[in-house]
Amino acid sequence: MSWLARWRAWREQRLIDRHPIPEALWQATLARYPFLPDAPRLRAMTSLFLATREFHGAGGLVVTDAMAVAVAAQACLPVMHLGLGAYGPTRGIVMHPGEVLAPREDVDEHGVVHQWEEPLAGEAMPGGPLMLTWDAVDWQDDGGPVFNVVIHEFVHLIDLGNGESDGLPPLPSAEASRAWLEGLTAAWDRFADRVAHREPSCIDDYGTEALDEFFAVAAEAFFVDPEALRAEDPALHQQLADYFQPA
Ligand SMILES: [Zn+2]
Repeated sequence: MSWLARWRAWREQRLIDRHPIPEALWQATLARYPFLPDAPRLRAMTSLFLATREFHGAGGLVVTDAMAVAVAAQACLPVMHLGLGAYGPTRGIVMHPGEVLAPREDVDEHGVVHQWEEPLAGEAMPGGPLMLTWDAVDWQDDGGPVFNVVIHEFVHLIDLGNGESDGLPPLPSAEASRAWLEGLTAAWDRFADRVAHREPSCIDDYGTEALDEFFAVAAEAFFVDPEALRAEDPALHQQLADYFQPA
């Protein structure tokens, strides 16, 4: 380890030590989000996340310790191996109590401007703060496709790590990127078939919108219900495992 790497590790450990998560709060978080492993590494990363990110309540929401730990622990799950650096420069997390209506505008081919409001559970923007709504974070599984807004938005941040939100996260080589896109696009086609034939899926059908959305909803299924995803699409499960949890 170089001097700089040792210094960084020492600094990180100090931040972790200064932000311990009380045992009762940690256990309550694991009970509420049972897909989270009771792993020392996840707990340490959650402390580091809380030490290096800023939570802001909006719309009258007061962000409690329990809310911040719920978000931080779920946000750390996808990057347990990649490290928090995979989330780029984003430090701010803005939390609203419930659904946010975002003003949208589009110009059609006739030059007519269309304006509407899009209801959002969360939103990741390049360079900007990440937005989450507590209602969506706190949403209880109803047995349908997996829904996890924290994993969804943070996986968009990983995707944005090489510039665009396009379903292609940073990979070490052009060849690896090509293989990733080939695999993900094939899985997206299989998923579109399931949706078209109204077959049940553990992946939210919002994934049909675009390849970057498919990556995000597939990652939700991968982390929240990995066995269901493995049974439904073993190749997709393997691709995500190779990326998020390399041996
Ligand atoms: Zn999305």
